[in-house]
Amino acid sequence: MLYVVLLGVPGAGKGTQAKWLSAALALPHVSSGDLFREQMQNGTELGIEAQRYIDRGELVPDQVTIGMVRDRLERSDARAGAILDGFPRTIPQADAFEVIAREMGASVGPALHLRVPIERLVDRMAGRRVCQKSGHVYHLVYNPPKKPEICDVDGSDLFQREDDLPETVRKRVQVYESLTAPLVEFYRARGVLQVVDGDQPMAAVTAEILAILGQEAGR
Ligand code: ADP
Ligand code: AMP
Repeated sequence: MLYVVLLGVPGAGKGTQAKWLSAALALPHVSSGDLFREQMQNGTELGIEAQRYIDRGELVPDQVTIGMVRDRLERSDARAGAILDGFPRTIPQADAFEVIAREMGASVGPALHLRVPIERLVDRMAGRRVCQKSGHVYHLVYNPPKKPEICDVDGSDLFQREDDLPETVRKRVQVYESLTAPLVEFYRARGVLQVVDGDQPMAAVTAEILAILGQEAGR
């Protein structure tokens, strides 16, 4: 049972790569950000609470996030594992994830750190468009949809995330540096960290990841 963790600053390309990997490895893409956005769209209590933090570029409290991801990982489609995108994002989340994985009979890793220079991020996020239905990710310049503002896969409308405004992006990057960046050392210490150059065309990033996973699987 395989839990692949994608690490990287907001805009590094985690969601983009997770969609490809999910198809290639036949494992569900579990994005804590997508799960929160679904709750927000449905106007649930959890969604209303999460939105207060998300709109400010802050993290949703650990206990809320951990409970939501645990519920998702317990669903039957995640029996063989999952591609985790955006979770864990703090050391307490990573500790809780180890416990969840043990309970599920899984091990955590590889953890793939997508490295992208900070100066790329505002541009990546300003052009990001996301599909309403299943969170497919586009970019106006680097990965445009075939028809403007329509998802190629589901035909649903694309929207711009409220938290992709430049001021909120800057705040999210600061939050990443202080609370999430320590996870790189956390997973290095466990011997499961793999560094990936995220500053290359999307297909080249995918190829690098698949090569790493091939090696992992062959160990
Ligand atoms: P994350 O999930 O890490 O926040 P996304 O996958 O949503 O990042 O990517 C952020 C934006 O950058 C999206 O608009 C996406 O289309 C674009 N993007 C992703 N990977 C690349 C890449 N390798 N080169 C250029 N743009 C990219
Ligand atoms: P993302 O789609 O991964 O960029 O996440 C969007 C926002 O959702 C983040 O800026 C946080 O406010 C919140 N969020 C997503 N994942 C987590 C997490 N693991 N822990 C806390 N907050 C999260």
